[in-house]
Amino acid sequence: MKVCVVGIGYVGLVTAGCLAEAGNKVVCVDNDAEKIALLKKGIIPIYEPGLAEIVKHNEKLGRLEFTTDLKYGVDNSLVIFLAVGTPPKADGSADLSSIYSVAGQIAENLTDYRIVVTKSTVPVGTHRKITEIMKSKTQKPFDYVSNPEFLKEGSAVEDFMSPDRIIIGTDNASVREEMKQLYNPFMRKGNRILFMDPASAEMTKYAANAMLATRISFMNEIAELCEKLGADVEQVRQGIGADSRIGRAFLFPGVGFGGSCFPKDIRALIHSGAQCGIEMTVTRSVQQVNARAQARFVERIREYFDRRKDILLAVWGLAFKARTDDVRESAAVNCIRMLLGWGIKIRAYDPEAGEPASAALEGKIEIFENGYDALDGADALVIFTDWQEFRNPDFELIAAKLKRPVIFDGRNLYDPEVLKKAGIEYHCIGRASVG
Ligand code: NAD
Repeated sequence: MKVCVVGIGYVGLVTAGCLAEAGNKVVCVDNDAEKIALLKKGIIPIYEPGLAEIVKHNEKLGRLEFTTDLKYGVDNSLVIFLAVGTPPKADGSADLSSIYSVAGQIAENLTDYRIVVTKSTVPVGTHRKITEIMKSKTQKPFDYVSNPEFLKEGSAVEDFMSPDRIIIGTDNASVREEMKQLYNPFMRKGNRILFMDPASAEMTKYAANAMLATRISFMNEIAELCEKLGADVEQVRQGIGADSRIGRAFLFPGVGFGGSCFPKDIRALIHSGAQCGIEMTVTRSVQQVNARAQARFVERIREYFDRRKDILLAVWGLAFKARTDDVRESAAVNCIRMLLGWGIKIRAYDPEAGEPASAALEGKIEIFENGYDALDGADALVIFTDWQEFRNPDFELIAAKLKRPVIFDGRNLYDPEVLKKAGIEYHCIGRASVG
């Protein structure tokens, strides 16, 4: 099938690459000329495991091309995916200006029937608005599909290739068949396509993200209580996760969630509720507990050092999660901003996110190519991201390099007993400190 993807970011590039891998011919359109120039040179502007190989392979075979020319993409495809950003506005609502602008431009360039598919996360009712915009600009026939994306950064290619489910929001039977054909190659786990109306598809995305964020905030609240009452949240997590009604996923307490989706989608959901006169009590609490988890972690570090400012901290992990270079609303970046504001100095390492984090923090932190180099002379090590390479480090070397052998672990990566034996003072979330 001939496909166009507009908006070549984390979602768009993965979508385009994976659809090309299944044999489709895909035109990738982005209005960021610099990004398109890099992609044309074979340089992948983001880090996502497995993505570079797929993109390079399919470009070589002529199944993937990159352009800033939207008209070219519209002319050379039957299905056009919209994967542009929908960032938060100051009032919490989703900024839909890019998606509306692209929808309008597609309509203006239509010469024949096309299927327009929204992958971006958009509030309920956006399907109506996009259809209206397009109808006001063209007499040509088109159909609209709401197809929210559920991939996770860090395993996006895997998620796209083998999804838990595909949500297709359309009331049109022939469009369902086209979408089925497009997604059939990814149904290795059996048919997992769920058809529904567009409004329900749009809501499914927000409800899924809010549910996952709720689990994290709930565990952070329990962790806080565990600390006060002398229980160990890691044992509690395993105890409740073993209940098949609850399950083990998304029960990890820590320094709070971040990223380009959960915080923004929660704000948008609260805003949607307010517009309908509904107080989104649970969702608002999720947001509050998350902010508290971050502030509490920073406060604990400050308290430990008697609120002194002449502190140098080594940081491991800057991305909002492991296996990505994305630092948008990263808990690490938020917390570091608070620490810098207090006057504390930071030396940091992240396997992929050093550069974007340094840019987000206006160059106010020192970035290292190696985690151990960041430790020299630091007053403590602070861990923000659960990268695999942080899980079993050389504790002797850590203790030797730090000015004081202290770790503040915002992801509960270590066994406190192991750290105690290594002579390291260990502070984590929801369980007793050791050392
Ligand atoms: P992103 O910022 O990485 O990519 C968006 C791309 O759209 C950028 O390359 C930008 O240049 C391009 N763009 C913006 N305006 C454009 C225009 N007018 N014409 C052409 N291109 C334009 O964003 P992302 O993380 O890929 O997210 C995209 C959407 O998917 C968002 O709505 C997001 O909520 C949703 N989503 C993201 C994820 C994720 O993990 N990142 C997962 C599921 C859903």
